[in-house]
This record gives sequence, C-alpha cells and structure tokens, in this order.
Amino acid sequence: MGRDVDLFVIGGGSGGVRAARVAAGHGARVMLAEEYRLGGTCVIRGCVPKKLMVYASRFAEEFEDAAGFGWTLGTARFDWGTLKARRDAEIARLEGIYRSLLDGSKVAVADERAVIEDAHTVRLLRSGRRVTADHILIATGGAPSLEPPIPGGELAITSNDVFELEEQPERVLVVGGGYIAVEFAGIFAGLGTRTTQLHRGDKLLRGFDEELRDALGEAYAWRGIDLALGLTVRRIAREGGELAATLSSGEVRRFDRILVATGRRPHVEGLGLAQVGIEVDAAGAIPVDAYSQSRVPSIWAVGDVTNRANLTPIAIREGHAFADTVFGGRKTAVDHRLIPTAVFSTPEIGTLGLSEEAARRLHGDDVVIYKSTFRPMKATLSGRNERMLMKLVVEGRTDRVLGVHVLGHDAGEIIQMAGIALAMGATKADFDRTVAVHPTASEELVTMRTPYVAKAPAAS
Ligand code: FAD
Ligand code: NDP
Repeated sequence: MGRDVDLFVIGGGSGGVRAARVAAGHGARVMLAEEYRLGGTCVIRGCVPKKLMVYASRFAEEFEDAAGFGWTLGTARFDWGTLKARRDAEIARLEGIYRSLLDGSKVAVADERAVIEDAHTVRLLRSGRRVTADHILIATGGAPSLEPPIPGGELAITSNDVFELEEQPERVLVVGGGYIAVEFAGIFAGLGTRTTQLHRGDKLLRGFDEELRDALGEAYAWRGIDLALGLTVRRIAREGGELAATLSSGEVRRFDRILVATGRRPHVEGLGLAQVGIEVDAAGAIPVDAYSQSRVPSIWAVGDVTNRANLTPIAIREGHAFADTVFGGRKTAVDHRLIPTAVFSTPEIGTLGLSEEAARRLHGDDVVIYKSTFRPMKATLSGRNERMLMKLVVEGRTDRVLGVHVLGHDAGEIIQMAGIALAMGATKADFDRTVAVHPTASEELVTMRTPYVAKAPAAS
C-alpha cells in the first residue's frame, strides 16, 4: 500500500528546509513539521539576529574613530528597543520567505510538533494526525545545554532568551568561552553594557590557533571586557533586583543578567528514537553514516542533531546531499574536513584548516609558519589601539597551506575567499604568485615571504 508521502521532514531549520525543497525538486511528495518558527535556530535565534546585533555593537567605535578623520558628531545614544523591534521585523520577514519558498516547492507544512511512531510513521501532536512516509528525515537541531545544573541556574538566560530581552542590561555576566559566549560578550560590550566574561579555561575559544586566542583575549581586555578566567559559577541567587553569582573562587559578583553559553545538545527529547531502535551517542547525537542514514534504513538525520559540525552551511549541505542521495539518484556525501568558519567577535576571527598546534601534532617539525601582526591603515588616523593578525600554516615538504587564521576587520569575509584556495589544495607558492590588492589588509596573506622563526628563549 502506498504511503502518504515520500519524505517526512521533522524540523524546519537550515537542514530540514533545504532537504525538503531539494527532495521536492526531485519529484518527491514531501511534508515538513516545525514546532516553533520556520527558519530554525539560524534565522530565528542564531546567526541572523546575532549578526544584526554585531553590526549594531560596532557603531560606537566607528563614531569614535570618525573624529580622527575630521568628523564632529553629536552625542551618540543607543536604544535597545529600536534595535529589537527592527531586528524582530526583519526576522519575521525572513520567516515569511522560508514559508513561501516551501509553498513554492510544493512542500506541505505542518506547524506543530512531530514525533516518530515507527520506522515509517510520524505523529503530529497538536492535530493528532498520523502520516506515513517512505523516508523520515530528522533535522531537529540543538538546544542550549545547562548541564551540569547549578543552584539558581534557572535565573540565568540562554542564547534563546537573549533575543527576547526587552531592556538592555547595565551589567551582564556571560558564562562560557566558545562561539556564543565570545560573540555575545562582544555585542554587549559594544552596546555599552558593563560586561564580564567568565570561562573555566585560561583562554577563550579552545581548539582555535593559540595566537588567535591570545590576540582575542588581549583585544577583549582592551575593549573593557572583564575576563574572569579559570573560574566557574557555583550558584546564582536573586538579591533584590540583582543576580548574585558565587564564583568558584568564593567571590560574589552582582549583575543584572547572567547569560549561560556553555554549549548545546542535540534536540531529541521525546522524539521517539528509542522505540524505533535508535540509540544516541555520548553527546546525545543521532549516529549516521556518510550519507546521513541512521541504523534504521528509512530514518535519516542531518544538521546539529547529528553533531558533526554545528554550523548552518553544514546543515544545509547535509540536507542537500541527503535529498540528492535518496531522491536525486546521486549518492552524495558531505566532506567535513575543511570548514572555513568565523567568530563574530569584535575584532572578528576567520579561521580555516589546521591551527599551528594541530599541524605540529600531525607533521612534527615539518611545519612552516608565516605571520604578520600589524596596525590596520584605518587605525593610523583613528588612533585606535588595534592590531590585525594574519597567519599561514604550511606543510614544509609539500608546501601545502594547511591553515589560514585571521583576526581583525572582515576576517569572516577574508576567510571565505581563502577557503576556495585551500579547497583547491593551494600551496604557499600559489599564494605567493597571487597579485596583491593594495591597499587592503588581506594583501598580507599573499605578501608574507619570510617564515616566522620563534625567538630562542633568553639564556638564564
Ligand atoms: P535548526 O536550525 O536548529 O532547526 C531545527 C528546527 O527543528 C527548529 O526550528 C526546531 O523548532 C524544530 N524542531 C525540533 N524538534 C521538533 C519536532 N519534534 N517537531 C517539529 N519541529 C521540531 N552557525 C553559523 O554557521 N554561523 C553563525 O554565525 C551561527 N551563529 C549562531 C548563533 C547562535 C546564538 C546559535 C545558537 C547558533 C548559531 N549557529 C551559527 C549555528 C546554526 O544556527 C546551526 O548550526 C543551524 O541552525 C543548524 O541547523 P539545523 O537544521 O540542524 O537545526
Ligand atoms: P561551544 O562548544 O563553542 O562552547 C562551549 C563553551 O562552554 C566552551 O568554552 C566550554 O569550555 C564551555 N563549557 C562547556 N561545558 C561547561 C561547563 N560545564 N562549565 C563551564 N563551562 C563549560 O558552544 P556554544 O554554545 O558557544 O556554541 C554551540 C555551537 O554553535 C558552536 O560550537 C558552533 O558550532 C555554533 N555556533 C557558531 C557560530 C558561528 O559560526 N559564528 C556562532 C555561534 C554558535 P571548554 O572550552 O573548556 O570546553
């Protein structure tokens, strides 16, 4: 007997929407369920509203810098409510575009939660409707993790809540040293909130190139972000209108808001995985093969719920590859090896490939480093105390560029272009024969000729 649809997609975020549209384009009958808002984390409460806030947070420095170029400006004043209203309107517009794209692709959308009943059946919780499908794609994303719980932890907010704040906090504590914590500490500080960033490690952004980590830490301290490193929060209590955080050092500090950004977990609660025989891994993710197929042949999973690389372009690629594999007659696996990424801190970070440390672990002494730290041209007249860092990690024997790391203006834009070169297997000689664009900051990437040699420690 024929099933209701060829594909049922659970989750209308980056991965689910792409998979649904491409599958429909291949002629499949597709239905998609979304329990919150179409667009998912990235559009509704992730990349997009975050980046709009990053833009907002950078104006204060632009206004200050303008003076060095002859401008006289009035007193600048920031209004949180205006930004929130305008940002929310833009997000609603994008959500509408997602819906019309799905409609235009003839994907049926159910605005409700879906759970799996068996290998070919999905139940929609609000309507109670059962839908049978040849294939089920789980694209339910992730959610902020507050593990392990601490006393008073419910008084803190997560990145989901931060977009709902009606008022700008005067003092904020941002807990965590990863992407989200770093980005929001930068946003709050830029908007004028007194910002403390607390992290259990001794530097921000574990796993990134050490020099990027050092340079970001210095820049954040210089921008007035109070970095509380090597510490955790033991408990949070409400004291009048304030939140009192007791730190592992025993010190108590007071804030208006505490944002906890200590990682995310795959969103699988109550989905019905156990009853179809799918066990999640230690991180709570759905194990899948290179084609995103789970151990149940009719059930597939893409995006953050599989915890491969939790980034929007990866969820989109995995969704597209799944649809091509199952409905397009073209078996396609996503290559997760070389992923350019940006951290929208201020200064921004763009990074790609191996850090110097990872390269040395793999290639020992056969690693050549080229690097340049310099004051960007704009900072000469603005007088801003600002350094830019560019670094190439090269394999000595083959001359292949293994890693590119940038800190400073437009690092995300720069690393996207470097990504093309590395995807083609570029060597340092290829970088060298590329003509510079002058005057730019990124020309440094093609003009560094002398390998960096660490100074020997002074004899004692
Ligand atoms: P999601 O986009 O999370 O979509 C999953 C959808 O499934 C959600 O809409 C959810 O409501 C729905 N859902 C869940 N369970 C059910 C159910 N049972 N029934 C129906 N619907 C369900 N990545 C970048 O590349 N660049 C960035 O700058 C960036 N910034 C980020 C900033 C923040 C604050 C956060 C939190 C994330 C950011 N990310 C960024 C990561 C990016 O958002 C995710 O990697 C991406 O959204 C993953 O897509 P997905 O399709 O796997 O899941
Ligand atoms: P991350 O994994 O990037 O960072 C988590 C941070 O929390 C780390 O600093 C980690 O410390 C710390 N941490 C974890 N557990 C604890 C704990 N129990 N107590 C104290 N600290 C803890 O997660 P995020 O939540 O910041 O972001 C999730 C993912 O979303 C990112 O990894 C990224 O894939 C994606 N994202 C991408 C963005 C972009 O592309 N610009 C922006 C935002 C999110 P330690 O390092 O010591 O483990």
